[in-house]
Amino acid sequence: MHDPDCLFCKIIAGQIPSSKVHEDEDMLVFKDIHPAAPVHLLMVPKRHIPSMAQVGADDASLLGRMLAKAPQLALDNGCNPYPQGGFRLMVNTGEEGGQEVHHLHIHLLGGPRPWKKG
Ligand code: 5GP
Ligand code: ZN
Repeated sequence: MHDPDCLFCKIIAGQIPSSKVHEDEDMLVFKDIHPAAPVHLLMVPKRHIPSMAQVGADDASLLGRMLAKAPQLALDNGCNPYPQGGFRLMVNTGEEGGQEVHHLHIHLLGGPRPWKKG
């Protein structure tokens, strides 16, 4: 459930500060410390799951609830409405997938272009 050496577990536990924008029983959502776009949130399940590579059928409802929250989070945090606006969800997985923090997280990027990446 909680990995004492994990950065995002420490943020969830309040041991490391973050710019929190949403919290519920499933997840914490906070601003990325190095934003790659005008809006850059990290949607993090409270349960320590190392990456998408460990996700299975038992996690389907949790991930579904997280994905279903994305549209409201996007609008509430400065993304413009679809279709002229919109947002990007991204889940880096493993070293070759570009994952740096090994606690599952969904990047939510949005806002006016240009962005720093992509
Ligand atoms: P990954 O590369 O694992 O998909 O993404 C990790 C993200 O976490 C990066 O975008 C990075 O900027 C962000 N990050 C790393 N350390 C911290 C931190 O201490 N606080 C916050 N808010 N974001 C962090
Ligand atoms: Zn963790």
